[in-house]
Amino acid sequence: MKLLEDRILKDGVVKPGNVLKVDSFLNHQMDIELINELGKEFKRRFADKKITKILTIEASGIGIACITAQYFQVPVIFAKKAQSINIDGDVYSTQVQSFTHQRVYNVILSKRFLGPEDHVLIIDDFLANGCALLGLIDIVKSAGATIEGAGIVIEKGFQQGGQLIRDMGIQLESLAIIDSMDDCQLTFRA
Ligand code: 5GP
Repeated sequence: MKLLEDRILKDGVVKPGNVLKVDSFLNHQMDIELINELGKEFKRRFADKKITKILTIEASGIGIACITAQYFQVPVIFAKKAQSINIDGDVYSTQVQSFTHQRVYNVILSKRFLGPEDHVLIIDDFLANGCALLGLIDIVKSAGATIEGAGIVIEKGFQQGGQLIRDMGIQLESLAIIDSMDDCQLTFRA
């Protein structure tokens, strides 16, 4: 998506360890006009899907999911990073290895908000090695719900996540795919 790629080139900052900082428009300060366009584009790409819930993970995914949900007119649910490992039976839970924080989180979602009748679109800000997305997929599967697809704002195409998810047969739509970020030079997949 040209609008997003141009913004990444203008305001994104490449940090050591293959981390792209987009704090000025997506991850800390949020450009709502831009994110609104991202939401519209997700709707266009998943227009033929019957979606009943949008699922994301705290924290960065929530704002993007909420704006996107207005185009689908469905609720947003977000998986929470739980401090405790004493997890009661009322939640789906899984473990996620954090790319940016280099640690493992327990991630939970209340069973009240997701069930076998649901058709889920997963939304997140970044896709790198795929751990966050695989955790969310695990939660949807535990609920017996249907995964209709995954919408990602920025996929780092040189990491394995995209391939893993596409190989599972899931419709994965990434609005910008970065093929390399060597020497602070960003290139996008056409
Ligand atoms: P994965 O689980 O696919 O390895 O990483 C995805 C998660 O890690 C995203 O939810 C995002 O929060 C974070 N992440 C991964 N790579 C980057 C990056 O380059 N920049 C930022 N800002 N976050 C990232």
